[in-house]
Amino acid sequence: VTARYVRVAVPVPLHRTFSYRVPDGMEPQPGVRVSVPFGPRRLVGVVTDGPDESPPEGVDPKKIKPLLAQLDEQPVLDAELRALCAWMATYYHLPPGEAWLQPLPPGMTGGRSGEAKPLTMKTVTVAHFLRAAGDGERLSARMAQVLKFLETALESTAPDLRAETGASLDTLRRLAAREFIRLEEREVPRDPFADLRAISHPAHEPTPGQRAAIARISESLGSFSPFLLMGVTGSGKTEVYLQVIEAVLARGEAALVLVPEIALTPQLVARFRARFGDRIAALHSGLDPDARHEQWLRIAAAELPVVIGARSALFAPIPNLGLLVVDEEHDPSFKQDTPPRYHARDLSLVRGHLAGCPVLLGSATPSLESWLNCRRGKLELLELTERAMDRPMPPVSLIDLRAYDFADEDKIFSLPLFEAIRENLARDEQTILFLNRRGFAAFLLCRACGQSLSCPACSVTLTWHRGRGRLICHWCDHVAARPAVCPNPECGDDALQEVGFGTERVEGVLRELLPEARVARMDRDTTRGKALNRLLDRFRDRDIDVLVGTQMVAKGHDFPGVTLVGVLLAETGLALPDLRASERTFHLLTQIAGRAGRADRPGRVLVQTYNPEHYALQHALTHDARAFLAEELALREALDRPPITHMAVFRLNGPDADAVMREARSVAHGLQADIDAAADPESVWLMGPQPAPIERIRGLYRWQLHIIARQRAALGTLIARAMARLDDAKLPANLQVSLDVDPQSFL
Ligand code: ADP
Ligand code: ZN
Repeated sequence: VTARYVRVAVPVPLHRTFSYRVPDGMEPQPGVRVSVPFGPRRLVGVVTDGPDESPPEGVDPKKIKPLLAQLDEQPVLDAELRALCAWMATYYHLPPGEAWLQPLPPGMTGGRSGEAKPLTMKTVTVAHFLRAAGDGERLSARMAQVLKFLETALESTAPDLRAETGASLDTLRRLAAREFIRLEEREVPRDPFADLRAISHPAHEPTPGQRAAIARISESLGSFSPFLLMGVTGSGKTEVYLQVIEAVLARGEAALVLVPEIALTPQLVARFRARFGDRIAALHSGLDPDARHEQWLRIAAAELPVVIGARSALFAPIPNLGLLVVDEEHDPSFKQDTPPRYHARDLSLVRGHLAGCPVLLGSATPSLESWLNCRRGKLELLELTERAMDRPMPPVSLIDLRAYDFADEDKIFSLPLFEAIRENLARDEQTILFLNRRGFAAFLLCRACGQSLSCPACSVTLTWHRGRGRLICHWCDHVAARPAVCPNPECGDDALQEVGFGTERVEGVLRELLPEARVARMDRDTTRGKALNRLLDRFRDRDIDVLVGTQMVAKGHDFPGVTLVGVLLAETGLALPDLRASERTFHLLTQIAGRAGRADRPGRVLVQTYNPEHYALQHALTHDARAFLAEELALREALDRPPITHMAVFRLNGPDADAVMREARSVAHGLQADIDAAADPESVWLMGPQPAPIERIRGLYRWQLHIIARQRAALGTLIARAMARLDDAKLPANLQVSLDVDPQSFL
């Protein structure tokens, strides 16, 4: 018998696959999981190529180890997902193991243990009626109640029986022991929407704009066609998705909908659920590993033809994909900031191409990337120019903070904004107040020596959380008590003063100013998990008058009672060292403004700022995404910045500042030599190496090196060579180098 070999993507951070011999009796095809020996460990990998009769070149066949086990009969990654993984590994320069295992739920890859586990189904106890009690048979009142209920129902689950009669499982077991009832364990699907409030949401008669978009997308079903659906907030984009998905389902195909952060948009999910019922699968971080695994298997079995999820749902094993939707395509959360670093919106176009189906990118404020793709004819533009039901866009006014007095000593509320909140309250209408706290949180400053209190492990100030009475680092979660005096050994004065304000301060000041208002706060501190859903429900039920929050309140919520939106300080994000600072500010302002006046009463938006001339604010005033995009694109063009050019960044960190700097310089050195030797050295250049804007996080020093190229291909070649050098280099164990292609984060 001739030996056969396969190549396997193994979950290790090396930029190559590994060869294994196939023992007799195994038939591992590409996409099948296998258990392999790797050094002293055993790991779960995925077959990428083979089986092949010729051993890999330059390797002694006797040294090639055999596979330990084949874990699947049939591939768990179909040809489409395999091609997607291969594409992603190449484009992002990922170790193949990172790319190829990405689609699989943790239960299927075994994680560190290397033992893939079969899914345990969730079971529920079901009681069946057998017989009524005879004359001489004595039963407790509760037992009698259960039996009476089951006599008509015939069967019922234990949780239902408990709700109905208060009976515990113990009571049921005693009834079963006396053969009044029979108990059975039944497998039931887990409900990924258990915490979601059901709503009804009938289909609307489409507006002319919606009708045109629906028709155009529907006629392209069955072939790759990328669209940008651009429509102001509330113009009915979601309704377009829903109606096109109906057409997809009618063809017997499935649809995949990516949303920025599913936990923040329970309403959107509820709307999909109202329309498609239990045909929906959800993949999001709130699911426990078993629930995720189960959803994965049911999607692969084509039981759930509408899949909705955050960025990782892009890899859902949908067998017959007929449509891909990326809602709020500009949202930064589509970029994964931990390995593997990929952009789900960009990859959605690759997957749509592989699946041969339309890809619909939706946004009120498209990313520069998508806008440029439109201009270059790579995306077809579909526009919704009006809000549904002829509702007007809310007027936006800037309040120049240099020109007004304040209602409070902390200078949070200008008089015009405060008056507007008070009037709104008197009219019994709801208000949202938005503060992008990042970069402008309250901290403690010593008036005597001028130093502020910083985190011992990170080069940032600690944020003062008055409610908890603690200083907290937002980067490493370090918590400290408030010192009585300045901790600077040369100072020690008791002159510590609170500077700046965050959402917590805003909430507190507002309660003092308007004691009769019901005020609530929504940010990472107050709302984790289920608390968020409850808060959103309470606001929707109008149990809250004023909701104060961070970016979380800006997402696509639909609160009909909100007629006033106040932005407390518009420029908080503008000063960040991020090439998208203006773009993000424009997105946030437009998103948050879109929360006002969504129902029958008109809304308005007041934006406080010390910087009213900034173009991002000016274009947000007029809801003019096109004007903003034109101005921003011209700027990027003038500065040679993405999306006009292509960018990647090497990030290095380690506990030894000198070692990090030396290695950053050595990476730069190698890259510069390659650039100088290239045919067109002018078209690629380096920025840095330099310390990152936050020089230290969790005690690790951070350096970064940006590469910018006019041609995508040139960037790829350079990075591949640098990666090969790094794979061969002997770096200190505590020094980490990572690559980020198309970076979204610059801190
Ligand atoms: P977007 O996704 O663009 O923000 P939505 O689809 O959420 O817009 O629509 C905004 C509001 O208008 C929702 O309350 C929705 O029910 C309603 N709506 C959408 N399309 C129509 C229509 N054709 N007729 C009436 N109301 C509509
Ligand atoms: Zn810290």
